[in-house]
Amino acid sequence: MGYLATYAAAQGYTVGVLDGESLGLGLDRIQEIVNEAAPRWVGFNLLAPTYELSARIAAGLDPAIQIMVGGHQAKAMPEAVIADSRFARLEALVVGEGETRVAELLDDRHHRVRLPGVMWRDPILGGPATGGVPGMSWHLAPDINALPFVDRRFFAADPYRPAGGGPLEAAMVGARGCPYDCSFCGAAVSANPDVTIRTREPSNIIAEMDDVHTRHGVTAFRLVDDLFLGYERFIRRCMVAFTEADIGSRYVWDATGRINILARADDALLETLAANGCREVALGIESGSERILSHIGKRIRPELTRDVVHRLTRLGINVKGYFILGLPTETYAELEATVQHVHELWNLTEDAPGTFRASVFEFRPYPGTPEWHRILATGRYDKTQLLDYSAVDLTDDGLDEAMRARDEFNFSVNIQFGEVDLGHVRRRLVDLARAQHERLVGR
Ligand code: SF4
Repeated sequence: MGYLATYAAAQGYTVGVLDGESLGLGLDRIQEIVNEAAPRWVGFNLLAPTYELSARIAAGLDPAIQIMVGGHQAKAMPEAVIADSRFARLEALVVGEGETRVAELLDDRHHRVRLPGVMWRDPILGGPATGGVPGMSWHLAPDINALPFVDRRFFAADPYRPAGGGPLEAAMVGARGCPYDCSFCGAAVSANPDVTIRTREPSNIIAEMDDVHTRHGVTAFRLVDDLFLGYERFIRRCMVAFTEADIGSRYVWDATGRINILARADDALLETLAANGCREVALGIESGSERILSHIGKRIRPELTRDVVHRLTRLGINVKGYFILGLPTETYAELEATVQHVHELWNLTEDAPGTFRASVFEFRPYPGTPEWHRILATGRYDKTQLLDYSAVDLTDDGLDEAMRARDEFNFSVNIQFGEVDLGHVRRRLVDLARAQHERLVGR
């Protein structure tokens, strides 16, 4: 949304972003604010877990306000969104990266007929209509080196001071798209056929870091891409540019990475990451079971993970590992292998200068992902059941401090997809989260 707003503002439109979640606004208040502002258009970023909230907000907006939607849910289930009567003034559903198409629509909604990847509700037939004429496909992959740097005035909580103190931080995007096809992931390549995978020029990334530093005093950056450290050639190019720009003595940065790529990198390259200010690498570790890792298409093995975590933390780079419990077909023994994998990684990094922390989630299916199609193909569940997300309170009514920080991630469709019953999945998840919390507090 920040990118869309920044681009539209640069084209001369008057734009605002309302981050209802950061500001703690209820649905009624969001509707009031939008209706009072009376914009020509409102845009929604539709995501599966919050889709219902977005639809309820849309239902209460002044019918004079035109609606455009985008986001993962719009891409995965466009027909369902177009048929949803709560989006009564839906004039455009934009699939994929929308900067240039959104600006065209703001100019005139009738431009939709020539824009690729734009759909709307046919006013006469009621069904979905699709735009696009030859020669316009460049809209689907804007030149990410030419886009203006995100204007942080649109953000309610960026730059931010981290909860535990430390330097002012800002989030950044250094790459778009991911070439892997992990079965559970909304960024999986097969779920995003519209996306051209690309990385920004290192010089362009550095220029944004310097710009955010000059304007806001930020010295810590989080590259929040689906996958930043994902290609060895890019990592090497980036590190040469970071070294030349002396990034390591000026800033620290966190990034997402991939275990199979980092496992292949030699020690010298990992040392260059550390020397250039890499503070933390986030890795999708997911499971301690080789069978599950192969089932979800992860293309890693537990010993690769051990090797990468060990080498990074030894160099003083922290590692954040993501894990999933309750994956489809997972057995009790396989879930325990994941729990043991977490403990093993804690032990392995006990005396290392870098820390290892685990972030554990309950599996839930996301529309459009390989796992979504695989579950539907079993014929056991329909889409409504798979989309029936509800909040799960693992905080003991807010009393359990260890679980509060990640409360927003505790939601579920309450279906047991493997051998392990959900009560057990959640007990093991809470055990790990508590143990992780104690390790952080005890440091
Ligand atoms: S989990 Fe990571 S590597 Fe796998 S598809 Fe998603 S973003 Fe790509």
